[in-house]
Amino acid sequence: MRLLLIGAPGAGKGTQAVRVAEHFGLTHISSGDLLRRHIAEETSIGRSVGAAMHRGDLVTDGIVMDVLRKPVEAASRNGGYVLDGFPRTVEQAEVAYLVARDIGASVQVAVFLDVPRPELVHRLLERGRAANRTDDTEDVITRRLRVFEEHTLPLLDYYRQREQLLKIDGARSVDEVTAALVAELEAVRHLLDG
Ligand code: AMP
Repeated sequence: MRLLLIGAPGAGKGTQAVRVAEHFGLTHISSGDLLRRHIAEETSIGRSVGAAMHRGDLVTDGIVMDVLRKPVEAASRNGGYVLDGFPRTVEQAEVAYLVARDIGASVQVAVFLDVPRPELVHRLLERGRAANRTDDTEDVITRRLRVFEEHTLPLLDYYRQREQLLKIDGARSVDEVTAALVAELEAVRHLLDG
């Protein structure tokens, strides 16, 4: 199964992606984690994306595609993937579709984790305190939410038109969201495999 999760910063994408991957035996691929690893390892990619990530802006499409290509291809050959954090724009979705289609790696279901804005801000401030993430301060949070609304929300229409969108109420407990997500995916699973 090949899935992606769309959600604002703080919607619980990362947590749910890990749980869904585990349940269905898929590989969890987080574009943010891969980029943060490049920064930690001080690679040339890390040096070129550091400033944009620190501000809460998106990094360029070319770099994200470069970082994701191999892991996505490998996961597609090995049971499938849960993509977390990609695509962030309709342009990324379009390019990714063209690249992935020929090797049978394109996305089958796009899950939208729906969480109201005040709840997102509350969660992000908590996470910033707990995890010491430099992009979870109040200014950067506001910026990241605006980037999400402007650039990423249009993806919902893109996947809705393709009849691939699954919307999940994400404003519940972590366990409740996982249960809903797993149940919905179990229900469509037989349409996807084989
Ligand atoms: P995340 O961990 O998914 O919240 O991503 C953290 C940061 O990594 C984002 O604020 C962006 O700067 C960058 N990033 C992650 N995924 C993408 C993407 N698909 N396109 C552009 N930038 C991204």
